[in-house]
Amino acid sequence: MYQNSSEGMMVTDTSGIILSVNPSFSRISGYLEDEVVGRQAYELTSDGKKPHMLNRIRHAIYHTGQWEGEIWHRHKDGEHYLVSLRFNTVFNEDGKAFRLVALFSDITKKKASEELIWRQANFDGLTGLPNRRMFHERLLLEMKKTDRSHLPMALVFIDLDHFKEINDTLGHDYGDLLLKEVASRLSHCVRGTDIVSRLGGDEFTVILSELRYAGDVARIAQQILEKMTAPFNLKQEIAQISSSIGITLYPDDAADADTLLKNADQAMYAAKQQGRNRFNYFAPFMQEATRVRMALSNELRDAVHRDELRLVFQPIVDLSTGKICKAEALVRWQHPVRGLLSPSEFIAIAESSGMIVSIGDWVFQQAARQAKRMQQLGYPDFQICVNKSAWQFRDDGSNYQQWLDLLDELEMYPKSIVIEITENLLLDPTHAVNEKILAFQHAHMQVSLDDFGTGYCSVAFLKRFNIDYIKIDPAFVSNLAGGADGITLCSAIVAMAHKLSIKVIAEGIETRQQMSALRLVGCDFGQGYFFSKPVLGPELEKSMEMELAPVDN
Ligand code: C2E
Ligand code: CA
Ligand code: CA
Repeated sequence: MYQNSSEGMMVTDTSGIILSVNPSFSRISGYLEDEVVGRQAYELTSDGKKPHMLNRIRHAIYHTGQWEGEIWHRHKDGEHYLVSLRFNTVFNEDGKAFRLVALFSDITKKKASEELIWRQANFDGLTGLPNRRMFHERLLLEMKKTDRSHLPMALVFIDLDHFKEINDTLGHDYGDLLLKEVASRLSHCVRGTDIVSRLGGDEFTVILSELRYAGDVARIAQQILEKMTAPFNLKQEIAQISSSIGITLYPDDAADADTLLKNADQAMYAAKQQGRNRFNYFAPFMQEATRVRMALSNELRDAVHRDELRLVFQPIVDLSTGKICKAEALVRWQHPVRGLLSPSEFIAIAESSGMIVSIGDWVFQQAARQAKRMQQLGYPDFQICVNKSAWQFRDDGSNYQQWLDLLDELEMYPKSIVIEITENLLLDPTHAVNEKILAFQHAHMQVSLDDFGTGYCSVAFLKRFNIDYIKIDPAFVSNLAGGADGITLCSAIVAMAHKLSIKVIAEGIETRQQMSALRLVGCDFGQGYFFSKPVLGPELEKSMEMELAPVDN
């Protein structure tokens, strides 16, 4: 057994001097029997110079007769290897210690693969950050620390804005590069003791523990926002993103880890709602808001099938003739319990759940049918404006070809429909959106830029995208009465637009004075409660013959 065992074996006297070794010992250690007999067993170890370790082993053998553990040995060729080692004492007839027998095997490889498995289970392969599982463990530890130190802890939830577009347009390799860079930037924003993790996808968390100054959290969050908006150099491409951040505090906001994470997620969602690229603290009302949102989200799923959506049309008047020549289609939800809901109450939910695509298709179909009605009633140039949110452009499901097919089927000119987009869409760094807008134009649909003046749209964009109309935001129109500023701005917008052959629609006209002022500066079209609120299709048809803004005024 001794000669043929696959385990290394060694016999020493009670002082540790080697008396004999078996062939497996030589295979594992590289030493032949002659080379080790007479030497101290501890000379084989890499830790030979760590006396306390050896003393512990000697102590155990002396008192219990055995020792078992893992220890690093050094191979004859100098390499270190880990062995699992067991010492047993052999006693003679008088019961006195006589020999020590050591059994050992090389477990270096086994250990390495165990470590690899541990790493894979606890760390994210791409970024090297702790993964969700490890994050959970660390969160619990940090909470305990807080309980002891009474210094508060913050859980920060970071979600990248529009990351999906990077993946969709540049490909996953670039997406991966970006995530790695995000991980490195995040790690630079925090202190060495803070824990950055990647929960998956584009979701990251930071645990800021033992906070001495209340202001630290906001400062770090602000820093993260800034770092995330700096351009990312990904090989030959440059990508730009931003992030939305939710913050919750322990122990103030919750007593357990799951609730903390839920809080941070809700606070992050609120930051997204408020326009992204910002941070938000958790507040208890968010829980209620989440509940309502979830309920609405579930009900909205069925709203299209249950025929609960309504489309209303707000007339757009040609300011030079006073006649209705277009209408904007605006969606409503006739909720069985909550009553008539306006878009502000459900469009965001529809967007974040992806339902905006089917709702958008429904809106388009209804709008196209109404436009057809208007043509049949003898208004061949009548146009209906359809709002299209950025999300609809992002989703590949929004197939503009289907829309064109529908117009074809109804035997209508594509020009009967104007697509209303907002300028943030044009500023979008990725190309997918641009291509889709251009595709609409190639199909001869017109494009109108909504809420003009509220963002940072440059003239270059107006030119590049061949915009047909801009809609002056109601904020400018409502300023018309006050002083000279409002009218100067409107007049400047009109002059610039006309130079670029773009027509102007003023939105939110509520008074005769506003209407007259806009007409004076040459604004082409007007829309607002002064002319009409949004109305149902039949009512729109009836009001067509009315002159809503007599020209003689
Ligand atoms: P928007 O495109 O800027 O639409 C104009 C909003 O201003 C409408 O609100 C309209 O009812 C309101 N409005 C019109 N005239 C006046 C006025 O004289 N004074 C005031 N104070 N308000 C006026 P609504 O219908 O609640 O729509 C809100 C937003 O919801 C829209 O803003 C649009 O962004 C979005 N939306 C509406 N329908 C759709 C849709 O079918 N699809 C998408 N994606 N978004 C939609
Ligand atoms: Ca609009
Ligand atoms: Ca608008």
